[in-house]
Amino acid sequence: MPLCAFCKVEDTMLYESGVPVCLKCSDPSPERRRARIALFRGLHEAVHRAEAATEAFAAITSRIPSGIPHADGVQRIRNASHELTAARNEMMEAHHRLNEFLERGTVPEDLKRIG
Ligand SMILES: [Zn+2]
Repeated sequence: MPLCAFCKVEDTMLYESGVPVCLKCSDPSPERRRARIALFRGLHEAVHRAEAATEAFAAITSRIPSGIPHADGVQRIRNASHELTAARNEMMEAHHRLNEFLERGTVPEDLKRIG
């Protein structure tokens, strides 16, 4: 049996729109469906941003020749480093939100307000 695409823990024979989903994850509540989609999408986007920031940081640091970079270079490294840190933090937060939802069923407040 395939694993549930959402919790990746339960085997399932059930499919929703071609995606394997276990009974636990196949929640009929519209709010929970919307929250689940938003959380998975949020994580996907956060991972994408973190990858882009990692590439941007690598590109900037690889252009620096050996020796001490001048002030402008230092500032660009700082900026790229700051963006990378922020993107990684967002990714960890997105992971955390999704885990809380999958393990405890917690719907984040900002997603409840979307209606
Ligand atoms: Zn599941």
